[in-house]
Amino acid sequence: MSALYGTYARSDLAFERGEGMRLYDQHGREYLDFHSGIAVNALGHGDAHIVSALKSAAEKVWHTSNVFTIPEQEKLGQRLVDATFADSVFFTNSGAEALECAIKTARHYFWAKGEVDRYEVIAFTGSFHGRTMGTIAAGGNPSYLEGFGPVMPGFKHTAPGDLDAVKALIGPQTCAILIETVQGEGGVTAMSNEFMQGLRALCDEHGLLLILDEVQCGYGRTGRFFAFEWSGIVPDIVAVAKAIGGGFPLGACLAKGDVAASMVPGTHGSTYGGNPLATAVGNAVLDRILAPGFIDQVNTMGQRLAWHLQQLAQKYPDYVLELRGKGLLAGIKIAPPVRDFVARLRDDHQLLAVGAGDNVLRLLPPLIVTEADIEEAVGKLAAAFEAIEAEAVTAPAVG
Ligand SMILES: *Cc1c(COP(=O)(O)O)cnc(C)c1O
Repeated sequence: MSALYGTYARSDLAFERGEGMRLYDQHGREYLDFHSGIAVNALGHGDAHIVSALKSAAEKVWHTSNVFTIPEQEKLGQRLVDATFADSVFFTNSGAEALECAIKTARHYFWAKGEVDRYEVIAFTGSFHGRTMGTIAAGGNPSYLEGFGPVMPGFKHTAPGDLDAVKALIGPQTCAILIETVQGEGGVTAMSNEFMQGLRALCDEHGLLLILDEVQCGYGRTGRFFAFEWSGIVPDIVAVAKAIGGGFPLGACLAKGDVAASMVPGTHGSTYGGNPLATAVGNAVLDRILAPGFIDQVNTMGQRLAWHLQQLAQKYPDYVLELRGKGLLAGIKIAPPVRDFVARLRDDHQLLAVGAGDNVLRLLPPLIVTEADIEEAVGKLAAAFEAIEAEAVTAPAVG
């Protein structure tokens, strides 16, 4: 009996060691990792550059406080500003905290302008923004809200893809629109460029801020640094996390300068956010992600993954119902129950993948994936479909 909260339906599998795309359990059994701790291990396991950055940071100062200057944090913030739309960065320890900062920044921006009743955020069904009281309200998923008391007010929801429905929700109290550029956990739904452009236009027309949640789809995964770059728009605030620390807990809220300007001393804080260890690792991760050719290679691999999945879909039309996603955030809506299928892939084929809403299988390999790895993973998916087929043929008739 575990001493831990029962909040996860955990497998007994425990990993002892990792190397690149591979994880090894306590018996030395090898697994191909298309899970990446849900898009966290962007550089796979044991990347020499980030390991050495962590080791040398550990020999110096682990933690100070954000009341002192943290040189690695200053450096990482400046590099993110130089590489993106943003002028200002707040570091957190997680994705949910990055979203909390994003929502607080948007509300406070209008409050500081004297528009104190402008706090409402339009968000979308099928989204996931984290598990804090604020982010479950933003996500709006009834099963995550149930039993936790009054839902934090100030969020309205509509289905993604319908600009008229969004427009209908805009009122004098609306301050921002919040959306995942590619919905991850909800079912791997990529927003179209037209929809993203339409949201930007609505924000401009009504003086709203556009907040993007790129915690899962950002930081290179779609083949651009940010997924929104595919649509050519510029957001006002973006939340990132997951890949930014390569496995070290780190997140960030990126904002335009005027938007972040009201966040003065006392308005927000975090004990650990951006501490020396975390940001030393964050800088090393960014060295690798921004290295010439890295994101182009991710883009190429994203296209190869899509191609191989199309072949799979053609071969197994009874099992593959729809292909979704963008780049190395791929979704396969499958016929068999996804929870069982994820367990089957793990236990019988040593492939680690993730389930998502709408019975979608999520493939999130580390960004260092090669085409050989992709072929191996797709081969394992095919083998799993074949095994289900064989079981169906040999299973005794029921009833
Ligand atoms: C994982 C995730 C979050 C929450 O991140 P945590 O680090 O678990 O708090 C928020 N938004 C999206 C899109 C995510 O995928």
